[in-house]
Amino acid sequence: MIRAKKSLGQNFLISPRIVGAIVDAANLKKGELAIEIGPGKGVLTKALLDAGARVKAIEKDDRLIPVLAESFRDDISRKNLELIHGDILETNIESLATGPESYKVIANIPYYVTGAIVRNFLSAKEKPSEMILMVQKEVADRVIARDGKESILSLSVKVYAKPELIMNVSRGNFFPIPNVDSAVIRLADIHNPFANKKSEENFFEIVRAGFAQKRKKLSSNLSSVREKETVAAAFKKLGMGENTRAEDVPLESWILLSEALLG
Ligand code: SAM
Repeated sequence: MIRAKKSLGQNFLISPRIVGAIVDAANLKKGELAIEIGPGKGVLTKALLDAGARVKAIEKDDRLIPVLAESFRDDISRKNLELIHGDILETNIESLATGPESYKVIANIPYYVTGAIVRNFLSAKEKPSEMILMVQKEVADRVIARDGKESILSLSVKVYAKPELIMNVSRGNFFPIPNVDSAVIRLADIHNPFANKKSEENFFEIVRAGFAQKRKKLSSNLSSVREKETVAAAFKKLGMGENTRAEDVPLESWILLSEALLG
């Protein structure tokens, strides 16, 4: 028996109902490419294949590779499944999604890599059409920002995609039982809103600087990366109050603000 490794975020899904809900949410067309991160023992992989998807699954744990290779021998030989032994954080997204073919990312991801996975796929040259992800419930709440409070995370997602909650998933649906509850989210309508790489980098520079010190006003935070007068002029132009806090600024205003502060 393979013991779950905490360091790899291994909490395996044991609920067929939840697996089914993830696959339903993915709404896969026959033959559509699904990239799965962390197939584990393959519960979700199997459901994706049963739904007619072609799957590329990337798994880091070398102990699981022979198990998966054995369970999915037929799918691998029929080329419905490509099993990749690797670390998603060291994988070039362009090597997974090479052509103009659209694809979806579907994963019960290890929580320690959530931020990096979302960032890497959303900013990739060949972006997925959608991502369906199991994430920590608290992360889902922050991404969706239902309380109206934005964060670097929520803005980094919303600038490229429309996030929505599919369902909350309690911790009892996994083994071993994790310390936190989870949620399935969908990132839909993924697109590139930036005219070029420079404006993309500029947007993230401004957002990161804006949130640098939580207690400070947005204008003071921005004064560490742009001239004070330039910041004041941009605020005036956009009709933003001097005391505005980063978390209260909606995405549309961040986009305008970063354009006004293009470095
Ligand atoms: N998909 C399976 C399920 O739903 O039961 C397993 C989910 S488990 C939360 C996360 C999986 O991701 C594990 O199989 C783990 O080994 C794998 N993993 C962890 N870090 C990884 C990384 N950096 N790259 C690829 N896979 C990783």
